[in-house]
Amino acid sequence: MLETLRAALAERVADPARVITTPAVVQRLSKDFYWYSPILKRQLEGKAGDIVVQPTHVDEVLEIARYARQHAIPLTVRGAGTGNYGQCIPLSGGIVLDLSLMDKLEEITADGVAVCQPGLRLAPLEQEAQKQGWEMRMYPSTLAKATVGGFLGGGSGGIGSITHGMLRDFDNVRAIEVVTLEAEPRVVRHEGAAVHEVLHCWGTNGIFTRIWLALAPAVEWSQCAIAFDTFDEAFDFSQGIAQDSAWTKRLVTVFEWPIPKFFTPVKQVVAEGKALVVMMIATAQLESLRHAAEAARGAVTFTGAYTGPRTQPLLSDYTWNHTTLWAISADPRWTYIQAGFSPTHCREQFRLLRQRYGDEILFHIEFMKNGEGEAVPGSIPLVYFNGEERLNEMIAYCREIGVFIANPHVNYLEDSGRYRADNIQLNAKQRYDPQGLLNPGKMLSFKPEDTQS
Ligand SMILES: Cc1cc2nc3c(=O)[nH]c(=O)nc-3n(C[C@H](O)[C@H](O)[C@H](O)COP(=O)(O)OP(=O)(O)OC[C@H]3O[C@@H](n4cnc5c(N)ncnc54)[C@H](O)[C@@H]3O)c2cc1C
Repeated sequence: MLETLRAALAERVADPARVITTPAVVQRLSKDFYWYSPILKRQLEGKAGDIVVQPTHVDEVLEIARYARQHAIPLTVRGAGTGNYGQCIPLSGGIVLDLSLMDKLEEITADGVAVCQPGLRLAPLEQEAQKQGWEMRMYPSTLAKATVGGFLGGGSGGIGSITHGMLRDFDNVRAIEVVTLEAEPRVVRHEGAAVHEVLHCWGTNGIFTRIWLALAPAVEWSQCAIAFDTFDEAFDFSQGIAQDSAWTKRLVTVFEWPIPKFFTPVKQVVAEGKALVVMMIATAQLESLRHAAEAARGAVTFTGAYTGPRTQPLLSDYTWNHTTLWAISADPRWTYIQAGFSPTHCREQFRLLRQRYGDEILFHIEFMKNGEGEAVPGSIPLVYFNGEERLNEMIAYCREIGVFIANPHVNYLEDSGRYRADNIQLNAKQRYDPQGLLNPGKMLSFKPEDTQS
C-alpha cells in the first residue's frame, strides 16, 4: 500500500528523492510545537502522516492534489512546523505536503507588496525587503524558521502588530492563490476580502501556492529594555507608549517578575525582582524614550540597534510565544493561554486573576493594534499546569470576567480563536474540499459531503 503510494507520488514530482518514507523523517515532518500544551502532548503524541512529499512547483502540487482526491487520501500541508496547536499534525495519516522547497521571493512590487511562494522563510523575506527599503509589517517571533505560508495558515501576528494590526487586518494580506481539492483540483486566486475564506484555516480548505503580502516602508529601529519595580508601573508606562501614536514602535511587551528570570542568555538586560518592558522603537526616538522611562521610574537596562533578524542579542526572541519556550525550558510544568484583556478594565481583570490563581498565572502582555485601530493589551500569560480540569476552569473564568481566550490546548480551529462567525472559512471548505481530505479533523463544523445529513 505504502509502496504504491510512494511510486505514484514519485511519478508526480521531478525528483523521486523528494518523496520520503523513512519513518523517523516522516515522524519529524509530521510534528510541530504541539508539546507546548500538556493536553495536546498527550493527545497527539502518536499521530503522523504515512509519507512526505516535497514539491517545488505549483504543477507538482496540482498533480499531488489530483492523486489525493482520486484516491481519497488525506493531505496535510506543512511549512516549517513551528505551529503550537498541532495544526499540521495529521490525525488520519496520509500525505504530508512539505512546501518548504517552494521558497522563492518572486518580487517586491514598487508599491511594497512581496509576491512569494509559500515556503519562503520570513527572515530572508525581511532581509530582502530591508535591502529594497521595505520591511515586514509583522512577523512572529519564529521568523528565523517560519514560512510565509505557515504564518498565513496558522499564525496571527507578532512583532509589528502594535502598528499594523494582525494578519487579518488592514489589507495586510493582499491576495492568496490556493490549489483546491475539488473533483478537478485547480488554482483559485483570492483577493481583497476573499482572502479571509482561506486565511488562518490550518490548511483545511486550500493549499497556498502564491502569496501577496503587504510590506511597510523600512524604519531604523532600536531595541530597548526597561526594568520597573512593579508590574503595574511597567504596564502603565507601556500602555502609554502603545496608545500614543506619536511613538513609532514595532514591539511593546511587558513581563511581570519572575518571567524575566527565564531569559538566561540575556541576563544583562534583566534586573532581579523587577518587571521588564521590551520595546522596538524608532532609533530617532530612543533618547526621548529613555527620558520618558526614567520619568516613570524605569531603569533602562539595554539599548542596541536592530539590524535585521541576525541582530544579537535579538530581544524579540524573548517575546510573543518565545516567552513560553523559555519558561518551559526552565520548568516543563509551565504552559500558557492566549488572551485579550480589556483596554479599559484590564487592571481589574489582572486583580481578579491574581486573587483567584496567585502565581499560577504570570502576566505577559503584548500590545497590539486591533481592527479598529486601538492599541489593546493582547497577552500570552504563563500558566503553571495543575491538571486539565484546573486549566479549563481558568479559561472559563477568564471568559466569565471578559478576557478573550484563544484556547491553545485544542487541536481544532473553532475554539482556537480565529474561526470566523460568518462561516466563510466553512463555506470555502465545503466548496474546495468537499470530501474533507485537507488536514481532516481540524475544522469540526465541517461534515464531509457523503456524511452530511
Ligand atoms: C517559539 C514560538 C513562538 C511563536 N510566536 C508566534 C508569534 O509571535 N505569532 C504568531 O502568530 N505565531 C507564533 N507562533 C506560532 C508559529 O510559529 C507561527 O504561526 C508560524 O508563522 C507558523 O509557520 P510555519 O511555517 O512553521 O507553519 P506550520 O506550523 O508548518 O503550519 C501552520 C499551519 O498552517 C498550515 N499551512 C502551512 N503551509 C500552508 C500552505 N502553504 N497552505 C495552506 N496551509 C498551510 C499548516 O497545515 C498548519 O495548519 C510561535 C510558535 C513558537 C513555537
